[in-house]
Amino acid sequence: MPTYIWAGFLTALTVWSVAGWLRARRRLIAVHERESARERAHQAAEERVRIAEQVGRFGTWSWDRETGLVTLSGGAAEINGLGRDAVETSLESLYATVHPDDRAAARSTRDRALDDQSNYVSEFRRLFPDGTVRWYRNHGHISQAGTRVVGAVMDITAEKEVIERLNRAAERMQLAEMAASFGIWEMDLASGIVKGSAAWAALERVADANVGRHVDEVREIVHPDDRWLLASGSDRAFATGEPYSVEFRIVPEPGVIEWRRSTAQVQFVDGKPARLIGASIDITNEKEMVVAAESASRAKNDFLASMSHEIRTPMNAIVGMTSLLLQKDLDAETADFVETIRSSSDALLTLINDILDFSKIESGRFDVEDQPFDLVKCVEESVDLLAVRAAEKRLELTAEIDPTLPRWIRGDVTRLRQILVNLLGNAVKFTASGEVALTVTSSVDPGDGPALHFSVRDTGCGIPADRMDRLFRAFSQVDASTTRKYGGTGLGLAISKKLTEIMGGRIWDESESDKGSVFQFVLPLRGAPAVETLNRADMHWPGRAALIVDDNGTNRRIYATQLRHWGMETVAVESAHEALECLRGRTFELALFDFEMPEMNGIELAQQVTELGIAPEMRIILCSSSGVTRKELHSDPETAPFHAFLTKPTRSDYLREVIGRLLNGVATPLSRRTASDLDGSLARRHPLRILLAEDNVVNQKVGVALLKRMGYTPDVVANGLEVLSAVRRQAYDVILMDIQMPEMDGLEASRQITRQFSKGQRPHIIALTANVFKTDQDACSEAGMDSFLAKPLDLEQLRDALIHCAPVERGQLDKTA
Ligand code: ADP
Repeated sequence: MPTYIWAGFLTALTVWSVAGWLRARRRLIAVHERESARERAHQAAEERVRIAEQVGRFGTWSWDRETGLVTLSGGAAEINGLGRDAVETSLESLYATVHPDDRAAARSTRDRALDDQSNYVSEFRRLFPDGTVRWYRNHGHISQAGTRVVGAVMDITAEKEVIERLNRAAERMQLAEMAASFGIWEMDLASGIVKGSAAWAALERVADANVGRHVDEVREIVHPDDRWLLASGSDRAFATGEPYSVEFRIVPEPGVIEWRRSTAQVQFVDGKPARLIGASIDITNEKEMVVAAESASRAKNDFLASMSHEIRTPMNAIVGMTSLLLQKDLDAETADFVETIRSSSDALLTLINDILDFSKIESGRFDVEDQPFDLVKCVEESVDLLAVRAAEKRLELTAEIDPTLPRWIRGDVTRLRQILVNLLGNAVKFTASGEVALTVTSSVDPGDGPALHFSVRDTGCGIPADRMDRLFRAFSQVDASTTRKYGGTGLGLAISKKLTEIMGGRIWDESESDKGSVFQFVLPLRGAPAVETLNRADMHWPGRAALIVDDNGTNRRIYATQLRHWGMETVAVESAHEALECLRGRTFELALFDFEMPEMNGIELAQQVTELGIAPEMRIILCSSSGVTRKELHSDPETAPFHAFLTKPTRSDYLREVIGRLLNGVATPLSRRTASDLDGSLARRHPLRILLAEDNVVNQKVGVALLKRMGYTPDVVANGLEVLSAVRRQAYDVILMDIQMPEMDGLEASRQITRQFSKGQRPHIIALTANVFKTDQDACSEAGMDSFLAKPLDLEQLRDALIHCAPVERGQLDKTA
């Protein structure tokens, strides 16, 4: 072969070989590159799994049954506390860390799965050497050959803790439901199905709490009379969105009644009512206790009523007999003994009445009236009742009502008067010298809303700070020695407190030892429809000048306020000398002189004014609280140096009327309600033996106080039967007879009296009633009653009625007695 052919052949071979080598090299490089890419992808996948395992607190494992070794992924190793990298360990060493209580269960779950060739799940705790415990959930899958088991394990400690917390809360709720006999429920408004807790199902006799029942079926065991309560409660809740609470009876089986209280709230979804969620509670015991307490309190009250009746009967006899004895000619010592018996029996009767009143209030069997009444009249009458006692102790007793207050208000006039008389009575009782001042204003405390603020201030012994807590408690007196010195039951303040609270108010005291007390109470102010203020246009005297002379500052202020409110200009001075000086300097049309003043009294001042001729046109009103009568001061009204005489505390209406007459030049003698009628002389001039028959304790007190104001000492009985035994025992000239009384009413008692006594022999019977209709008056006349007085009693009307009663002939009376 020619050389060039060899050369060509060799060249071609070389080229071919080089190309082949190059191709092989390229292939090798490509394979290498693919492998490194796969490696990178694998590593990335492993990294992802590692992160996922870490975040999700899980890992995978594989168990070679032949070697007994378990390979754990990094995640599985980490949650088992074996580091962060994949590890190989023996199955037994893994089981050794399983909590001893869970080990057997975990093994048997696995073994059962191996037998059945099925997948399995087990939950167990692992106990770590430091004592911590964690929860795991393990899923296992057995390979087809059965030689390998692979799976995943997850740390479920957080999940278990949440479940545990929920279980504990549910358990707590269940225990609470059982302990308090209540159950929680919810009603789906669309389906009307009610579901609830097991306790609810038991309470409402529902078979399966989770399945629930239609609301109509649930309500089947509700007492037919009470079903409307639930229906209207839920209707109202849907309409208003407000929660409701209803008490109703259920009849779980014939003849058995249980009580439930259901409280519920509507749940709104997208502004529409979707569910009613509530709780039912068994209140049967509570209700039974209330019934038992009511019947116990009824029994207590019945017992008290019958006991007090039993005690009252002999007490009335004692009171009656002593008043008979007092009419006999007794030597001074015996009269004193009898008087002591009489006043002690009166005190005992008051105590019985107070106890009865208190127990009536305590038991809640007590209604307060809601009627329009005249505030000024009520306050002034209450003050009037204490006027004589205050005058006896030479105390200045004043009443000041803010003239801008509405005069007509709604409420219970009798109870308001009772509180005022209690507080004023205490103030007079515990004050040796100085004054007792009642003021009525609007409450300034915004928390009270519109309210009246009554305050009774005295200059008496006061109450030490460390004893204030004894006030307003039943049968509690600040100091045992006060009981001995002043007497009393220790019930007055407790009753006043209850009464103010029942009427929606509050009562308190601000007191300083040896300086005096200020007892105060606040009552909601509700104006009556015809609200009239004290400021009446026709009784105004603008620009007229008045001089007020009184050594007592409170009185000066009260008179000045009243007169200024009626348009007058006032100058107030505290002594007769200052008054004379004033009178020399300017002209006054009106003067109010206090009678009792040091150095120169009111009448001496009036005489000087007349003698000096310094104010010939001035009209002088003399005011006295000392109990002296006009006659005693000056028997001849024609020559008296004053033009009108008033007793203090002065009623604002009456003062206004008197001023009106004086300034208008009306010369009519001021005969009404001057001291002569009210200072006790009426009883001397017109003696009467009076029996007051009245069951209401407050009205008894008011009646007795009004009669005492005129000098009468009445006997008091509380029902018709007591009237009959009193008139059989002794003779009376007048019976003031309440119509409505327990046991025997006034009409029946009057009928029996008219049957038993002839016209000239029997006492005059005056009916007392709040019913002022003609038919009521006719019924009284038919029963034989002689006249008729409307309640609340008015001092002047009572006086007029008594003046018309002639004493029954003594001879006749003594025979019946
Ligand atoms: P009573 O006056 O019948 O004892 P109260 O309940 O009215 O019962 O009063 C209880 C006590 O409060 C009185 O005994 C007295 O110690 C004290 N107290 C009441 N009012 C006053 C007052 N104005 N000044 C001083 N102490 C008073």
